[in-house]
Amino acid sequence: MSDPFDLSGKVALVTGASQGLGRRFAETLAAHGAAVGLAARQTDKLEDLRRAIEAAGGRAASTALDVTDTAAIDPALARIEDALGPIDVLINNAGIAVARGVLEQTEADWDRVLDTNLKGAFFTAQAAARRMAARGGGNIVNIASLIAFKVVGHIAPYAASKGGLAQITRAMALELARSNVRVNALAPGYIATEINRDFVASEAGERMRRQIPQRRFGTPEDLDGALLLLASDASRYMTGSIIVIDGGLLLA
Ligand code: NDP
Repeated sequence: MSDPFDLSGKVALVTGASQGLGRRFAETLAAHGAAVGLAARQTDKLEDLRRAIEAAGGRAASTALDVTDTAAIDPALARIEDALGPIDVLINNAGIAVARGVLEQTEADWDRVLDTNLKGAFFTAQAAARRMAARGGGNIVNIASLIAFKVVGHIAPYAASKGGLAQITRAMALELARSNVRVNALAPGYIATEINRDFVASEAGERMRRQIPQRRFGTPEDLDGALLLLASDASRYMTGSIIVIDGGLLLA
């Protein structure tokens, strides 16, 4: 029986691949046969990752991309396609968080978070979808968050951005199904990375850990299975789905 998660012959682009979840996503996709495009602002880290993937026998190419610069998105996709071939799968992962109470949030922080996580994600998905639709199909995986469904303190703009991304996932899935482009999302709970390093190490973080039914924060590897499901043809009859991976926290 063939491996339903095999990505041989596919090209996958991962945004925000320079560290954290994006780096792990790129490594996982490459280990399952995909050629991977790596995009982010920190190009030195992308080049390190490209070399690591190639040293392990994979194919990869990197490009600078700031997703808040919407005019730069399609040219970045074009550079990856020139290097690797048509993009079959987009992992729309670039994202930031700013931790501040509602009364202290600034307009600049609001813009930074929404421009990256919502506007940047939408226009990256749109640019990829245009290319995919013109070629007969493709697959988009948005990286939303548990915070699309559950609210915690000090991240109101982030919650708005991820709630919006969850709805964009559904709206795009509905419209793009006829173009054979699938759009799904992962909604991770607390996965220890740079984005939440200070929180995870804090007393509030420890209180959060004790609320998680599985009593631990996740690791990037905990997302491998759900990522491979959505990125591969194993999920061919799924579109508009959002998979929560949170150690049970949504239930708590
Ligand atoms: P990190 O801070 O470790 O990584 C964020 C990545 O996004 C970096 O590679 C960064 O690259 C990239 N990025 C940020 N801004 C931009 C931009 N303007 N243009 C292009 N790339 C950008 O965080 P995580 O790996 O944890 O987060 C990855 C995604 O997962 C985010 O969307 C986050 O919201 C989401 N998520 C994370 C959870 C967690 O618990 N860790 C839980 C739920 C969702 P560079 O700085 O090089 O541009």
